[in-house]
Formats: sequence, structure tokens, C-alpha cells
Amino acid sequence: MKYPASWVFRCPFQIYLAGKYPEYSRIEAEAIERGRKAEIEFERMLKSLRTPYRKQKPLNYRTKYYTIYGRADFITHSEVYEVKSVRAFRKPTKNWIGQLNLYLAMSGRKKGFLVEYNGEKFRKYEVNYSDRLFRESIEFFNYLHSGRYYRDTSYCQWCTYSFICEEL
Ligand code: SF4
Repeated sequence: MKYPASWVFRCPFQIYLAGKYPEYSRIEAEAIERGRKAEIEFERMLKSLRTPYRKQKPLNYRTKYYTIYGRADFITHSEVYEVKSVRAFRKPTKNWIGQLNLYLAMSGRKKGFLVEYNGEKFRKYEVNYSDRLFRESIEFFNYLHSGRYYRDTSYCQWCTYSFICEEL
């Protein structure tokens, strides 16, 4: 069994619904294009700084029962960068920080940055590796792996399954 690191701390019931009704999963083409542009612009910046890096580095962490996997956007010799396209700068969600913290654990780096790009400029948010958050992440995936799902209403505003969720 495999779980993407990007699921960490997301609403478990949403993950359940996404598996059961994949036809309602909606990632707008415009959002994909914005994300692609953010990575291109950030890569351009790394190149201008002459920073050696690896792009889309596959990473994984194996437990006894399942594997957590992902691709870090950019890795340098000491840092991990996860680039997010946003309409407006905002406080990073626990989901984003947890995902980056997992990449830090998987890559052996101690420091990473969430890089937000609003179409014009970047904002970097530093994340230092947290063993406590890593353990909490593993507890989250252990819970998912148990097949139990609870509703985390802090993600409802971004959820494309809210119309089903309310009926179940
Ligand atoms: S509407 Fe809210 S509680 Fe329901 S699945 Fe989506 S995020 Fe979870």
C-alpha cells in the first residue's frame, strides 16, 4: 500500500471520497498551469544564483505496512524547496508544512522552504525539520491505513466533495 506525502493532515473523509468518487476530483487546468509557471520561475532563480539542485526528486519512507512517497520540487545539498502557486500570500497550512517535513525526513535534510509564488513574486517560509511533526504524520497515516475516516472541517473551503459530504 502506498500513500502520497501530500495527503498528510488533509481531511481523511475527503481522501476516502476521492477514492470512491474519482470523477468528482477537480484540479482546474488553470491551477495546473499556474503551478507549472511557479516552478519554472523558481528554477530560473536557482539557476541565476548558480545553486546546484535536483528537480522533482523521488522520495519515499517505508513503514512495516505501507510506503509514503512523493517528489520534492527542488533539492539542494542542504535544503528542500516545495513551490506552491497561490493567488495571495497566506499562512502555510499544516498540510503543506507536514508534506515538506516528510520530504526533509526522507531526504535527510534539516531545513526546507515553502515557496509561494503569486504570479509576480516569491515568498519563502522556512521550515526546520521537526521529529514531533514527523511522528504526528506517521500517526496520521497509521490512522488512514486502519480504514477509519473522520471529517476535518478546516479544509471544507477548498473541498470539491462538499456537495456529497453533506449528504452522507
Ligand atoms: S466537505 Fe469538509 S468534512 Fe467533508 S470531505 Fe470535504 S473537507 Fe472533509
